Amino acid sequence: MYIVTAEEMYELDRHAIEQGGMSGQLLMENAGRSIAERIIQSECKTNSIAILVGSGNNGGDGFVIARYLMQAGFSIHVFQVVPNEKINGDALFHKQLFLLQNGVCSFMESPEEFIKELEPFDVIVDAMLGIGVKGKVRSPMKEIIASINQWSKKVIALDIPSGLPADEQTALDISVKATKTYVVEAPKQSLFTEWGAPYYGEWEVVSIGIPSISYQSNSYVKKWTKEDIASTLPRRDRFAHKGTHGKGLLIGGHKMPGSVVLATKAALRSGAGLITVATEKDTIPIIASHCIEAMYEQWNHFIINRNDVQRFDAIAMGMGVGKEPFSKDIMNNLLEQKEIPIIVDADGLTHLKPLLPIREERIAPVILTPHFGEIAMLSGKTISEWKRSPFFLAKQYAMTNNVYIVLKGKFTIITCPDGTQYVSDTGNAGLAKGGSGDVLAGIMLSMIMQNQSITEAICNACYIHGKSAELLVESGQHTEYDLLASDVIDGLSQVFRTIF
Ligand code: ADP
Ligand code: ADP
Ligand code: MG
Repeated sequence: MYIVTAEEMYELDRHAIEQGGMSGQLLMENAGRSIAERIIQSECKTNSIAILVGSGNNGGDGFVIARYLMQAGFSIHVFQVVPNEKINGDALFHKQLFLLQNGVCSFMESPEEFIKELEPFDVIVDAMLGIGVKGKVRSPMKEIIASINQWSKKVIALDIPSGLPADEQTALDISVKATKTYVVEAPKQSLFTEWGAPYYGEWEVVSIGIPSISYQSNSYVKKWTKEDIASTLPRRDRFAHKGTHGKGLLIGGHKMPGSVVLATKAALRSGAGLITVATEKDTIPIIASHCIEAMYEQWNHFIINRNDVQRFDAIAMGMGVGKEPFSKDIMNNLLEQKEIPIIVDADGLTHLKPLLPIREERIAPVILTPHFGEIAMLSGKTISEWKRSPFFLAKQYAMTNNVYIVLKGKFTIITCPDGTQYVSDTGNAGLAKGGSGDVLAGIMLSMIMQNQSITEAICNACYIHGKSAELLVESGQHTEYDLLASDVIDGLSQVFRTIF
């Protein structure tokens, strides 16, 4: 599933029309009909529905929906929130089709009258503004949006709630807060931002039949789905031995042994062949008492015997190492091992910062797994700047520093050093607890060790991590309150069973 910007969506429409033999009217018909079918299935026929239409394509979709709902016997009323002369092109074509079916459409100049007229309706279909919104929302839509948001009625938005920008680069003025949004063809970027997502309510994508050849650009952000993991997660080979599934090294736990316990267990529970933990001498027995399947070394062994890290297929470092000055030697040594992928998490990020950007000579990737606070520390930009434009800033940061960035949050954005981006949206607020990130680092190490493409391994790890939390809550084994990071490890079995 692709996530698009407004410009990319227009380009898809254009391509479908110019190269795919479709027309704007047909795309509008497809969008309106598909959404109407869903409304017909989900809404009670006794509910009266007000459909608010604007001047653009979004309004045109609204007229198609109105026609289908009317034909299905719904009591509907169309309110046009823009003057007649503003409606033209494909939207005008569908307006006329609606009128020819004896549809009624009223227009009112003043917002106050509008708002009064809307009061008796049970459901509002919002087709005022789509991805074409520019600048501050003008009257009367501004007032209508403010009133709609005061009511506790059901609001169904078409494609995107009115007023909400499709892209993170555009500032938000005022937006309809929808109960449900039927996203047309492809989710827009704002759906995967913390500032935009709450306006969508529940959401569902409806296809409008844009041919797959129209998806030509390779710059789309891809949402990682169940189908993606099912087709990329390596099956266990019947003749496998432990070496087949990789040798991984976890460095950390100096200050917080628990974080490495979590990472180690998570790695072992997600298919890793062999895991070695490198930590402080005194910490080894603590961690070993929890993870008997792992092997242990003192961390400075890898400073004295620099080349000994070469026996590993992948390394994860930084969990629980603490912020205090840490041996620069080990960080340098790890980076010099050009062919071993390395995940840097938590306090490891602080120690890596002075060594960025990663030199082009390093063949294997360096993967940074910051949350928003950590990426702010690394980049010198604020958390709110990052929350505002996570896609843009992550792309810039990953490309400049020659790293993978796994920006963790409600939506985890994975950015490759070439700027390609993915989103994993599994997970729930049960994960908003200390230790969840350590579990992710362990799963990711394990996925990378097991011979997958790096990008697939990272995306699969994020998907699995979040899915475990989801299944534990959905199945009633836990709630978001009592879910612990260690439960997420226990839940991995359930995730693997659903994938295969
Ligand atoms: P499109 O037709 O480009 O797909 P929309 O359905 O979102 O996009 O409609 C865009 C139309 O909405 C524009 O033609 C313009 O008339 C109107 N519009 C854009 N921005 C605003 C705004 N801030 N306030 C009110 N109307 C707007
Ligand atoms: P820690 O360092 O304490 O282990 P991090 O902050 O590094 O934790 O990582 C937290 C993990 O939990 C990330 O993978 C993040 O995506 C996930 N997470 C946190 N809050 C939420 C949420 N509200 N919804 C979904 N995932 C979340
Ligand atoms: Mg963390």
